[in-house]
Amino acid sequence: MIRLKDKVVVITGGSSGIGLATAQRFVEEGAYVYITGRRQGELDKAVALIGRNVAAVQGDVSKQEDLDRLYAKVKAEKGRIDVLFANSGIIEHKTIDAVTMEHFDKTFDVNVRGLLFSVQKALPLMSSGASIILTSSIAGYKGMPAHGTYSATKAAVRSFARTWTLELKDRGIRVNTLSPGATDTPIIDGQVQTKEQAAALRANFAAAIPLGRLGRAEEIAAAALFLASDESSYVAGIELSVDGGLAQV
Ligand code: NAP
Repeated sequence: MIRLKDKVVVITGGSSGIGLATAQRFVEEGAYVYITGRRQGELDKAVALIGRNVAAVQGDVSKQEDLDRLYAKVKAEKGRIDVLFANSGIIEHKTIDAVTMEHFDKTFDVNVRGLLFSVQKALPLMSSGASIILTSSIAGYKGMPAHGTYSATKAAVRSFARTWTLELKDRGIRVNTLSPGATDTPIIDGQVQTKEQAAALRANFAAAIPLGRLGRAEEIAAAALFLASDESSYVAGIELSVDGGLAQV
């Protein structure tokens, strides 16, 4: 069954990891997908990988002019958005004693401010039946050393889904949160300095996860597909955790 036939989708942070796997899956399911990210080279590789029904728009979600340029292009080419996957995110490990104002601003600018305006500026193109999916994290409701700022941004994201569900209900737009657990993407490597440290981080996660391994980006994409499609037509305001049980037991 093709679940997203002729749907127009925007995926922020669609050039890598979870966003890229979701873009691939959504195109397989019949959608036309716009992907964004700051690095043009990664976007070019993603477009080549996906191969059809995809367009890349370089941009930083924390920059208003980049978001305006993204949505102006979507409006000119397609005239509407059926699904928005607000997924861009960054993490920097810092314990409370090491947090700087620069680290705080950078993390909140992308994960919270960038996500909020990604949604706000998409709304004029969205109509009844549209679905908004916000990428949070199990870190938003679980304590983890050195994750304080990141986790706070993800708790904010989850909170937005509650408010926006009520604010957008009369327009027929559903808002839900998707919270991955440890998922094997480049963001894991970016949290450490060496390959050995990355392997140790993956091993530590795997040991703590009931299913005994990290998630695959494709497994998060499958949950995004559920929230994007009419299969979730009666699902609103939830947090769907996809974490191999890490934060559930
Ligand atoms: P990833 O492979 O590093 O992908 C992150 C994506 O976001 C990239 O496309 C990146 O492209 C883009 N991005 C980052 N900053 C951006 C900005 N300012 N403007 C526009 N795009 C930006 O990581 P991922 O694991 O797929 O992460 C996707 C989301 O899942 C994030 O929100 C992350 O917090 C969340 N998450 C991940 C995990 C995990 O274990 N992997 C767990 C829980 C939640 P550029 O760098 O080129 O901009």
